[in-house]
This record gives sequence, C-alpha cells and structure tokens, in this order.
Amino acid sequence: MRKKSSPNLVPDSSSATLAEDHFWLYDLKVEVVAGDKPMVCNHQVGDYFLVEGESLVFAKGQHFSMYAIATILPLLPAKQRDTDTNDWMTTDADIACPDPHCGGQFRITRIGQRQFRHSETTGLPGSRGTPYWTKDES
Ligand SMILES: [Zn+2]
Repeated sequence: MRKKSSPNLVPDSSSATLAEDHFWLYDLKVEVVAGDKPMVCNHQVGDYFLVEGESLVFAKGQHFSMYAIATILPLLPAKQRDTDTNDWMTTDADIACPDPHCGGQFRITRIGQRQFRHSETTGLPGSRGTPYWTKDES
C-alpha cells in the first residue's frame, strides 16, 4: 500500500546541514525536584546528571535511580535538539518517577549548546572523519 503525501510536509533540509558539516545540540541537566507526594525511592532533591552529546555525565559519587534513568532516556535526544515553540517537548520539563507511589520528579533543563561535526559523529561510509572524542589526542 502506498502512502499518500501530506500537504503539511516540508522539504528535507538535511543536505544543507551536510554541506556545512556541523550541527548543534543542547547540553542538558537532569535534576531531582520534589513533587507533591513524598519520595519513596532513593531520590534526593538536587541530585543530577548532565547530558553532553551522547554521554551521561555524573559528578563523582553521584547516584541516580536506574528506573528513573530508564524513564528519562527516551526524551533526552529530543530535548537536545531545537523544537518548535508550541511543541510540548519544548515546554514540558518535569518527568514523573515511574513508581506511581513516588513523588519524585526529574527536571530536564537546557543549559547550553555544543557544536558537533557530522563527519565526527557518523559511521556512514564515505562520511566518517575523526571521532570528536579523539580530537584533543591528535
Ligand atoms: Zn521514585
């Protein structure tokens, strides 16, 4: 079955991005904030981790519930990218703990932008350059 084209689709601008070979991602901070119920998991208000490119960055000794991380992870790539002003992904920042009895919430904040090069981040044949994480070593 063939899909009908949508009149709301706009042309793909990815070829322009490839020509410039760079793109921007937001660095994120994911922080425990108190909800309206007591927390029953081991969340401490102020516990956090950062998202820098593909990496989750934890301060030394910082812990974070793996169940909470499992809930938060699917949202992070979208939060790293520019989203429409009216998109709920732009406006909604607090994610509830997956335990329905727990009042823990996790606030995702865009804290800055970091530039990457396509050639440093892709594995596509013919496009691969030096990985960004080895640039300082050469
Ligand atoms: Zn919880």
